[in-house]
Amino acid sequence: MYLIIMGVQGAGKGTQAAAIKERLNIPHITSGGLFRAMKDQDTPLARQVQAIMARGELVPDDVTIQVVRERLMQPDAARGFILDGFPRTRPQAEALDALMADLGQQITAVLYLHIDDDEAVERISGRLQCTLNEQHIYHRRYNPPRTEGVCDVDGGRLFTRDDDQPEAVRKRIAEFHHKTRPLLDYYRERGLLREIAADRPIEAVTEAILQTLQADQAE
Ligand code: AMP
Repeated sequence: MYLIIMGVQGAGKGTQAAAIKERLNIPHITSGGLFRAMKDQDTPLARQVQAIMARGELVPDDVTIQVVRERLMQPDAARGFILDGFPRTRPQAEALDALMADLGQQITAVLYLHIDDDEAVERISGRLQCTLNEQHIYHRRYNPPRTEGVCDVDGGRLFTRDDDQPEAVRKRIAEFHHKTRPLLDYYRERGLLREIAADRPIEAVTEAILQTLQADQAE
């Protein structure tokens, strides 16, 4: 299955992609991750990408398309993938269609995890991260640590990331709507968009995704 997962920050893309990846045995490919992996390379392209990312801007389409294209040509992506963070612009979506045509394949479905903006702000701004390990994440209300301010796993101090402050979160959410709305329409027009209500417990959302995909296959 060739899937794209979209949604505002806090919708649970990473969590759901990890669950589906296990169930469907396909890789989870994030464009942000591909760019972050270029950090250790000392090439003109890697330096250009690092500077752009540091400014919080989008990497130009031609570079992004080339990097994603190379990744999707790897053998482990031949039977399918979950693409996260790409496409982000219309030219990227068109390039992906062209690439899929070259591979003799097409996108199976675009999963749009939907939550209200207020819920996204609540989820992200309540997030607490461990100073010792960024993968140890809590939530003030939904998943509080046993001792306030202290990581259950390693005793590290918990803190709120600067870009998780409510004002910054609202800005990122507004950007998502501004830039991504046209892509949702692009895929809706092609009959590929599957809207999933993501304001439910993690397992319920995973089940909803798998049921949607099963229903597609049964058609
Ligand atoms: P992310 O982890 O998805 O927020 O991506 C981190 C950074 O990588 C972004 O701020 C962009 O600079 C770059 N990036 C990731 N995906 C794309 C994309 N599809 N198009 C352009 N730039 C991207």
